[in-house]
Amino acid sequence: MIYLDHAAATPVSKKVLEAMRPYFAEDFFNPSAAYLPAKRVAEKYETAKATIAHAIGAKAHDLVMTAGATEANNLAFSCLDAVSVFSSPESMAENAPVLYLATEHDSVRKVAEYYGGVSIDVDKNGRILLDDLKNKITDETMLISVALANNELGTIQPLSEIGSIVRKVRLDRLSRGIKRPLYLHSDASQALNLLNVNVARLGVDLLTLNSAKVYGPKGVGALYASHEVKLKPHIYGGGQERGLRSGTENVPGVIGFSKAVEEVTSHLNGNRKKYANFKKILLSELQDYTLINKKHALDNFIVICYNGIDAERLIFLLEEKGVYVSTGAACAASKGLKSHVLKAIGLSDVEINGSLRLTLGETNDEAQIHEAARLINEAVAIEMGRNA
Ligand code: PLP
Repeated sequence: MIYLDHAAATPVSKKVLEAMRPYFAEDFFNPSAAYLPAKRVAEKYETAKATIAHAIGAKAHDLVMTAGATEANNLAFSCLDAVSVFSSPESMAENAPVLYLATEHDSVRKVAEYYGGVSIDVDKNGRILLDDLKNKITDETMLISVALANNELGTIQPLSEIGSIVRKVRLDRLSRGIKRPLYLHSDASQALNLLNVNVARLGVDLLTLNSAKVYGPKGVGALYASHEVKLKPHIYGGGQERGLRSGTENVPGVIGFSKAVEEVTSHLNGNRKKYANFKKILLSELQDYTLINKKHALDNFIVICYNGIDAERLIFLLEEKGVYVSTGAACAASKGLKSHVLKAIGLSDVEINGSLRLTLGETNDEAQIHEAARLINEAVAIEMGRNA
């Protein structure tokens, strides 16, 4: 198998699995219980949170652990409920308190749409148009959501520039006596793997993390939330996670996530170099393609287009040869939807139909990359032959 879909899922690493194992059976205690073994588990859990937080320049108590990035993204938007002066989503829609990037993952896009959000345009590489952002910020805007790296293109956004725009708006509001807060949220699900993420440097108030994309267990994520941001409890109950997300802690999951974070963040530079080299090989050995994500992309993301070819058919052909690739987000692909991301960067329907996303990761080595290029060329030639 040659797996080139690491943006969809990453395998749990051996070290992560080992770190998690004791917490399923031997150290199964509820961290809230009063006896010593449970208190030890609570300590391990807090240490794991501290490790995850440390990787983004934050503290354990800044994190709300969740069951994945979708939940963390939804929780981030609850700041609109917590400080809302609007009475209903309909009245929110009139005032558009949310701005979000047109290329956001559905777990941001759908909740932003629910709150009547307005989308910010991107250029042909999927980079935010900062002037469009500036033009769309009004005195009503309370939340701006821009993913640090896009999940279909790998496009890295200039978050610190966006952060300084947000700071200027806040100062201006202050000088005019406007009390409405303005928060910046970023979904860093795809970024933590390859980028040095630091909440202060990025200037974000809210940041989403995803264990499943960094060789940790699925269904585990976190929302970093600065203590300035008021959030509405997401799940009511026993008051865990700052009272925002009640429920017995997922101890093995969070410990696995923390081990995964430790591993990826200690190999950032090496991994970046390795993937950049793999990318170079693919781009030189593949034939007849157009590169879509030419600039500002993560080193492990390659999006290419074969004009006039049906990428869905290509995927099936490649699967028969043991090569796993995708057309874009796994959730959109499973519903047969056309990518809103590729539409947002201005691709035509024909170009979207012919687009393939290859995302590199830990399961790949150089020999596989040469072999993948050969097999993809072969499959493309068959498809082109069919069309001739
Ligand atoms: N955000 C981004 C950028 C993603 O790539 C994904 C997963 O594909 C998610 C959010 C959702 O993550 P999960 O399905 O783990 O909740």
